[in-house]
Amino acid sequence: MNSIKTVGIAGAGVMGAGIAYCSAIAGYGVLLFDTRREALDKGLLYIRKELEKAQAKGKLTADQVEASLQRIRLCEKAEDLVADLIIEAVVEKLEVKQDLFRTLESVNGKESILATNTSSIPVTRIASALQHPERFAGIHFFNPAHLMKLVEVIAGARTNHETLENSRAFAESLGKTVVLAQDAPGFIVNRVARHYYVEALKIMEEDVAGFEAIDRLMESSGFRMGPFRLMDLIGVDTNYSVTESMYNLFSQDGKFRPSRIQKQKVDAGLHGRKSGEGFYRYEA
Ligand code: NAD
Repeated sequence: MNSIKTVGIAGAGVMGAGIAYCSAIAGYGVLLFDTRREALDKGLLYIRKELEKAQAKGKLTADQVEASLQRIRLCEKAEDLVADLIIEAVVEKLEVKQDLFRTLESVNGKESILATNTSSIPVTRIASALQHPERFAGIHFFNPAHLMKLVEVIAGARTNHETLENSRAFAESLGKTVVLAQDAPGFIVNRVARHYYVEALKIMEEDVAGFEAIDRLMESSGFRMGPFRLMDLIGVDTNYSVTESMYNLFSQDGKFRPSRIQKQKVDAGLHGRKSGEGFYRYEA
């Protein structure tokens, strides 16, 4: 069923690099594309470091690390992103994603699958820019993509059966646990998890408690990461865009209202771990 041999990934940020890692480890040829050279270099460095960490823990051999790195090629032009499956992991903005997919559709053959890693934007809406929405699906990884087992696979209103099944088979071939989710804003996990962030930000804005105290409490009550530490991992900007997108997609329902404090962090470039500072500060 899964005839995919090459995987193209658009966006070499937090998610694109992780998806490239698991695709390369699974034996796929990987083309990693970003509009910024700096993001490509940083993405590749991250992949190398994560592979070496896995080797140090005895999970991979030196040969596996080297072979995985050899399978990854970088590219700086969307027109060069030609593969059996393309997974888009660029900024959470509908117009940016649609523009990119128009280009990708024009350079890839009819057999290629186009997929988005969007956290919140309906797959059907992104696909509305395409001439062939039937070969388009959502393949939604979780962060860090090479460590988290879960993948949501989403069919848009016009996704055909073969595309959905190949998308599912691909994610399973990476060793992931696949859940088929309906095409609704935020799908399943992000819709539930949104309140973890939104409510914590409200508590901070109302001066009920500071962010470090909220994190400490949530972590000691059993959550692996407090909401602010998690936003820093996700990317404060990406997390904000997802909330904003869900707020609008749910007719500006107040329960998804984006936070003023979070917006200020975004505007200040305090985007979390990837920028060196978000709610917390990080060593380079
Ligand atoms: P990021 O900001 O870390 O990386 C985005 C990358 O896309 C940047 O390197 C940027 O240079 C590049 N880019 C922007 N426009 C581009 C274009 N037109 N063509 C090619 N590259 C372009 O973002 P991220 O956190 O990796 O998120 C990417 C997508 O994955 C978003 O849709 C987000 O909602 C989704 N997602 C994020 C997480 C998370 O925890 N961060 C989890 C699941 C899904």
